[in-house]
Amino acid sequence: MRQQIAAANWKMNLDYKEAKALLDGIMSQQILLEPHRKVVFAVPAPYLRMARRKTKEHLNYEVSAQNCYSKKAGAYTGEISADMIRSVGSRYVIIGHSERREYFKESDETLAEKLDLALEAKLTPIFCCGESLAIRESGKQDEFVAGQLANSLFHLNAEAILKIVIAYEPIWAIGTGKTASAQQAQDMHASLRRVLAKKYGQPVADMIPILYGGSVKGNNASELFAQPDVDGGLVGGASLNEEEFVAIIRALK
Ligand code: PEP
Repeated sequence: MRQQIAAANWKMNLDYKEAKALLDGIMSQQILLEPHRKVVFAVPAPYLRMARRKTKEHLNYEVSAQNCYSKKAGAYTGEISADMIRSVGSRYVIIGHSERREYFKESDETLAEKLDLALEAKLTPIFCCGESLAIRESGKQDEFVAGQLANSLFHLNAEAILKIVIAYEPIWAIGTGKTASAQQAQDMHASLRRVLAKKYGQPVADMIPILYGGSVKGNNASELFAQPDVDGGLVGGASLNEEEFVAIIRALK
C-alpha cells in the first residue's frame, strides 16, 4: 500500500511556547500509526530541533522544514540549506508551496534545484503544485499542473522520483475555507498519476504518494482521503488546532 500522510504546515504561526504545547497535546494522544501511515509536522525553522525531540520516540512521526534554499552553502545571509535541515533530524522539506511561488517568485527551475539539493541531503521533498482560480475556471488545470511537474520533477530518474511526495493544492482552496470536492481532488490526483505513469511507468506512478491540500478539516478529511488516488493531506489552518489535526490523522486510510 502507498504511504498515507497527514502533513501539518504551520506556516509562520505560533510562538515557541505555543508550538511546544500543540506538539505535546497531539503526541500525548499516543495515536499509533500503522507502517503505511505517517504524520509530518512542517514547523518554522527555529522549532525544527524541538519538534524532532518531541517526536523521535514515536514511530512514523516526522518533522519537515517549510522551505530550503536553492544553493548548497555559502554567503546567502538568512537562508537555510537542505543539509542544515537534515542535520537537525528533519527528514522532510516542503518545496514549491504556492505562497513561496507567489510571494517569493520561486520559479519551476528554482524548485528543480531545491529538489536536487533536498534529495542529495536525504530529505523527502513534499513538492507542491496547483492551479489558480483563473486557470481552474478556464478548464486548463490538468495541463497546467502537469506542466509544473514536468518543469520541476521530470529531470529526475525513476529511483529519485520514488523519494518524492507530491501535494496537489489548488490555490483557490488554500486558506479560503473552500475545499475542492472529493471528486475534484480525485480527478486531479488521477490525472497526475497518469502523467507520472506516462513518464515513469505505472508501477512507479502507483507508489508515489499524492496528498491533497486546501482547507482540509477534521470534518472533510475522511471523504477526501477515501478517494483512491488521495493519499492524505497537507494541512494549513486546521493543523494549528489539536482536535482538528488529530481528527485528520485518524482519517488516514
Ligand atoms: C497549505 O497552506 O498548505 C494549506 C493547505 O492551507 P489550508 O489548509 O489552511 O488551506
